Amino acid sequence: MESSVQTLEFQAETRQLLQLVIHSIYSNKDIFLRELISNASDALDKLRLESLVDSDLDADTSDLHIVLEVDRDARTLTVRDNGVGMAREEVVELIGTIAKSGTASLLEKVKAAKDAEAAQSLIGQFGVGFYSAFMVADKVTLRTRRVGTAEGTLWESDGEGTYDISTVEGLPVGTEVTLHLKPADGEDGLADYLAEWKIRSIVKQYSDFIRWPIRMAVERGQEDGVSVTEMQTLNSMKALWARARAEVSEEEYHEFYKQISHDWTDPAEIIHMRSEGTFAYDALLFIPSQAPFDLFSHQTKRGVQLYVKRVFIMDDCEALVPNYLRFVKGVVDAHDLSLNISREILQHDRHIRGVRKRLVKKVLGTVKDMQANNAEGYAKLWDQFGRVLKEGLIEDPDNTEALLEVISAASTHDAEAPTTLREYVERMKDGQDAIYYLTGATRAAVENSPHMEAFAAKGYEVLILTDPVDEVWVDQISEFDGHRFQSIAKGQVDLDDQDDSGDDNEKAQREAEFATLLPWLAATLSTQVKQARLSSRLTTSAACVVGDDHDITPQLEKMYRAMNQQIQPVKRILEINPKHPLITGLRDAHTKNPDDPALPELAEIILGTALLAEGGDLPDPARFAKLLTDRLAHTV
Ligand code: ADP
Ligand code: MG
Repeated sequence: MESSVQTLEFQAETRQLLQLVIHSIYSNKDIFLRELISNASDALDKLRLESLVDSDLDADTSDLHIVLEVDRDARTLTVRDNGVGMAREEVVELIGTIAKSGTASLLEKVKAAKDAEAAQSLIGQFGVGFYSAFMVADKVTLRTRRVGTAEGTLWESDGEGTYDISTVEGLPVGTEVTLHLKPADGEDGLADYLAEWKIRSIVKQYSDFIRWPIRMAVERGQEDGVSVTEMQTLNSMKALWARARAEVSEEEYHEFYKQISHDWTDPAEIIHMRSEGTFAYDALLFIPSQAPFDLFSHQTKRGVQLYVKRVFIMDDCEALVPNYLRFVKGVVDAHDLSLNISREILQHDRHIRGVRKRLVKKVLGTVKDMQANNAEGYAKLWDQFGRVLKEGLIEDPDNTEALLEVISAASTHDAEAPTTLREYVERMKDGQDAIYYLTGATRAAVENSPHMEAFAAKGYEVLILTDPVDEVWVDQISEFDGHRFQSIAKGQVDLDDQDDSGDDNEKAQREAEFATLLPWLAATLSTQVKQARLSSRLTTSAACVVGDDHDITPQLEKMYRAMNQQIQPVKRILEINPKHPLITGLRDAHTKNPDDPALPELAEIILGTALLAEGGDLPDPARFAKLLTDRLAHTV
């Protein structure tokens, strides 16, 4: 029973936007269903709210739900809700126009955009919502009745320039949107949106956690030649993150974690937070207990998904967590974002940045708590994810302090357990002003390196840094708790609270004894060495090579080479041990006959052994081997 039909024009801007939508702004057409379900869900929320606020309202809220209905013969898909509904003027206003400000300027920009991708990212700022139905339908019929009113409204359009609107009697409260689908696999390459599996999979992917049941009649089989159907609820409705923590059991959290992470083991930590400020959101994050096999592959995705009001928006949301927290899994559900928000827009959204900041703080805070209260858990976490967390020291200068508080490193203090920096600082000797470290390929290589000798002899603790990422961060971080980081393979070592380096007089005398040998060594080895000097870091070795404070380490040099970066070879400093018989012997021989042809070869052997001792590479191993064996031949 329809009253006279009125034909109205879409507002100009709406028409333009519709054209954009129809002519495939979105590459992913499936999202039309997400949009309609989200609108239905909002309408159910509103009805419940209104009935709570107004007890006189004649509203039935006993079974709020969404129904999807397929009619294969008519080729229609209907989304129906028994929510709040719309009055006629609301339909005109909400569906017939785009009330949002900035539509005109958005359209200008979209038209100016060079390619579809740019246009899509622009339109992502904008909820095209209801209009996305026109991507898959060539006609849309909407029937609706507002709660508390008697008359219903019918709205129909082909999305071109106009829509028809009329008043109808006898509609139930709520809204029904019927899509007259375009042909599947036609020129638009549409999927078959009448197929049960397709509908199921879209609902599962995008709308699983909608709090209202989404029902559909599905075929159960045949009985006496007639197909039997039953109503099924397609969504799980269980959005754990929207519930209070006290209401969720450990098992439920674990189950949910396994579902989203594809991990079989229980998570190490659960972080459940809610913010009700100007930008409300729920976040449910997990720290896994074991690292995935692909944690260090280039394609590793971040584990945090973005939802908007329980509607799935995207996986791998890089705007929400930094790369060094890529092992964290979970969900963030923002209450106030457009469903069509694009990755690009998210990156620059002020609110999202605020969320990211809080999530990072919370995760690092959780790691710190583990360190304080759950030593075993922390040790395991460090073992699994420590290398990734250390990337944060390079990536995230805003959180340097917090990161330094939670990192651990192997140390000469304990052969087994790593130490935190805080513990290291507490053990520092009187007068020690720096945190000493040495980088290298393995613990053994670092421990046995000649650079370690004096530090070991004098009881200074040295951090043993063997991860490739260590090379980079120690170079960038200036200090922890007021103590700078000092490589024991760099700069001058002056462990001067000890007395066995002798007094100044003795030092000066020794310098004089080597006054001619040192420049000769530097000149002889000048292709690899920029300076030769006496060492105070050696006790048993004859020589070692070191860098200036700002030189990059040989390991880092190697890493850059491996990444195909062009860098100048770095010349090192040769330090010799003035008490070693090989060195005093060389000095005496050089004093006796500076032109002895055997001496440059001996210098080369001394440099070569110093390089080998620190675990470094020789520029010409074959030549070194020959020099050494020739020498040894004289001694047997
Ligand atoms: P948005 O959801 O972002 O507001 P839409 O284009 O999806 O944008 O919907 C426009 C408006 O139309 C909604 O805000 C709502 O007021 C109204 N509307 C759409 N679908 C329904 C529905 N099923 N029931 C009630 N109102 C609806
Ligand atoms: Mg919407």
